[in-house]
Amino acid sequence: MPETKPRGKTGVWLIKFAELTLKGENRKSFENILKRNIMRMLKESPDPAAAKLRTTNGRFFIEAQEEKTETIENVLSRLTGISGWAKVVTCKKNVEEVFAACVEEGKKLAQAGVKTFKIDARRTDKSFPIDSYELCCRAGEAVLNAAGDLKVDIHKPEETIRIEIREKAYVYSGGKKGLGGLPAGCAGRGLLLLSGGIDSPVAGFLLACRGMCIDAIHFHAYPYTSLEAKQKVIRLAEITGSYCMGIRLYILNFTSVQMRIKERAPVEWTTVLLRMAMMEAAEKAAVMIKSKCLITGESLSQVASQTIENLTCTQSRIKLPVLRPLIGFSKENIIRESKRIGAYDVSIQPYEDCCTLFTPPHPVLHGNVSEAGALYETLELQPLIDESLRNYELVK
Ligand code: ATP
Ligand code: MG
Repeated sequence: MPETKPRGKTGVWLIKFAELTLKGENRKSFENILKRNIMRMLKESPDPAAAKLRTTNGRFFIEAQEEKTETIENVLSRLTGISGWAKVVTCKKNVEEVFAACVEEGKKLAQAGVKTFKIDARRTDKSFPIDSYELCCRAGEAVLNAAGDLKVDIHKPEETIRIEIREKAYVYSGGKKGLGGLPAGCAGRGLLLLSGGIDSPVAGFLLACRGMCIDAIHFHAYPYTSLEAKQKVIRLAEITGSYCMGIRLYILNFTSVQMRIKERAPVEWTTVLLRMAMMEAAEKAAVMIKSKCLITGESLSQVASQTIENLTCTQSRIKLPVLRPLIGFSKENIIRESKRIGAYDVSIQPYEDCCTLFTPPHPVLHGNVSEAGALYETLELQPLIDESLRNYELVK
């Protein structure tokens, strides 16, 4: 959607960059990626919004129709690379207008039941007649006079009214925290092994916050696993994709691979061997779609297949790097993140995963790489893996 001046009553949102300030010369290109991401997300929203974007040192401004507030704020809450944002009141750079805007903000806070506040002022334009300290004092006084129920608390205020004096003056309160990190698209592509569980969507989300574009691959074992289980994974891919400019999900039927493992492998090795097969198939897919790494939701010692020895077996036959952003996370922390990104309620739906086809009662805990390799060779899985790769289903 090209940038257009929104019609009707316009709202203005101020956006603070996250780590972009650290990136020196690359900063311009990061800013451009962020700008492109915002425009694309606005365009692809269920209720698309036309908007105008502006950058001034260290800040981004979106101007859009007031009535598109929901779309804009939805997009901002899912945008990586920003540390915070707020809807702002824009005013002329004169003291009276700025104070009047602060008073309005103060009245709104008082009406909403807020008891304490402070003023925070920033003056990028040093030609403004009064400095930040004086601005804070005088604006605070004006608010106190007009909204009698409010009290100043400079140490622990419930709300802060912020003033920024730049090319124009901006006044706002109730700023929201952004996702932080880097804008999607500045850190290459990775292929996420997406199960129907809690961990893998969180793993994808964390790397999306580091600027990675994510594709996903899922292995199912239909008809041993249900179509509902597949739908659940599609939903999880959508949620993960909403933080990284969309996602392509490759769905592979791994039934024949699993049956072969079940027939030929010692029962205690089945899970590790299945993981090795998944890694091999995922690597082949990644090479085809030009992904630079694999991503999993594995976490050290979470289950038997995730001891350091078994993780080593799992990746022993592939060359691509395997990123495991959750490796040091406790399940409790993963669940907290899963709830934060809105995936948890989907993840806990009780549909079976292909791994549940065989969960050995006494799995090998500290697999040896050469033994794993030798067993893997006897399975002759390549033709079956290639067959599953040829018949993938793609969901965008
Ligand atoms: P999750 O880890 O996503 O909560 P889980 O705990 O059921 O699911 P694990 O047994 O912990 O799965 O699997 C470890 C990792 O292996 C997953 O995070 C995921 O990256 C990958 N994985 C497991 N099963 C599948 C599958 N059916 N398709 C794709 N990847 C899978
Ligand atoms: Mg797990």
